[in-house]
Amino acid sequence: MTYDLTNEKTVKQILARHGIVLSKARGQNFLINPTVCPRMAEASGATKQDGVLEIGPGVGVLTAQLAQVAGKVVSVEIDKGLPPVLAETLADFDNVTVIEGDILKTDLAALLQTHFADMRVHVCANLPYYITTDILMMLLESGLPFASITVMVQKEFADRLCAKVGSRQSGAVTVSAAFRAKCEKIFTVSAGSFLPPPKVDSTVMRLTPYPTPPVAVHDQAWFFKVVKAGFHQRRKTLQNSLCSCLPLDKQQVASALQAIGLPSTARVEQLTLDQLATLANTLYTDLA
Ligand code: SAM
Repeated sequence: MTYDLTNEKTVKQILARHGIVLSKARGQNFLINPTVCPRMAEASGATKQDGVLEIGPGVGVLTAQLAQVAGKVVSVEIDKGLPPVLAETLADFDNVTVIEGDILKTDLAALLQTHFADMRVHVCANLPYYITTDILMMLLESGLPFASITVMVQKEFADRLCAKVGSRQSGAVTVSAAFRAKCEKIFTVSAGSFLPPPKVDSTVMRLTPYPTPPVAVHDQAWFFKVVKAGFHQRRKTLQNSLCSCLPLDKQQVASALQAIGLPSTARVEQLTLDQLATLANTLYTDLA
């Protein structure tokens, strides 16, 4: 039987039959706007030769679209009640595997090896909002060769993540993402597209991981310490934030800023990715 998973009544009936009550704590806002999932599947760039890792399939509305464009889909779902629902709603597809589990506790390298072997792998998901940052950072920091990461997130989060490094909207998460991937907003989705509707609109964005970072840093851990310290108190001058969080003195930071053409009163949000990398490299050399 084929279900219309964008029909609110149908979804409510399936959930009721399986005794499932949607959980706010698990970020369970299911997509019911019929135009969104086909666009997301297309934006992922997945082809019949590729695999897709989906996080949180819910009742399978996006999974079904992914199964049509990709060679294989593996979906990880934390809610024990949903795999039996998915067995029913995705019965027409023989290229979908549902794994019950917490994505943050999943050994991704082993999952890729077991299920996708030599396939190119994309990530595509409508993320549970309460752990969006954790999931994205885990994916980006994993070092696994994901071809693309196409995810639905809260609009504000996408605005911050995809902001230009060196603009007022940027934050530590912006720098972290920009260091590892090309970040693009694809389209906006209104709150009314979900069951139940969340309080805010969402954005579908695509991150395309770089094989090597766009800027060279001597030591990644130190670079991120500098970035985190800089954004810790973003209203302070960078000189003050760095000196209060790291073993650096004001003169050292002032000279490093001067070397990249910035005054000692510069704030972190004024620095481009290149300038942040140069600053971290200079201070690292000073430290050594
Ligand atoms: N993909 C479906 C859709 O678009 O309608 C559901 C998306 S809903 C925003 C997020 C889904 O992620 C829910 O099914 C929820 O149970 C699941 N989820 C929440 N936390 C999770 C975790 N730590 N690991 C895996 N799945 C999780």
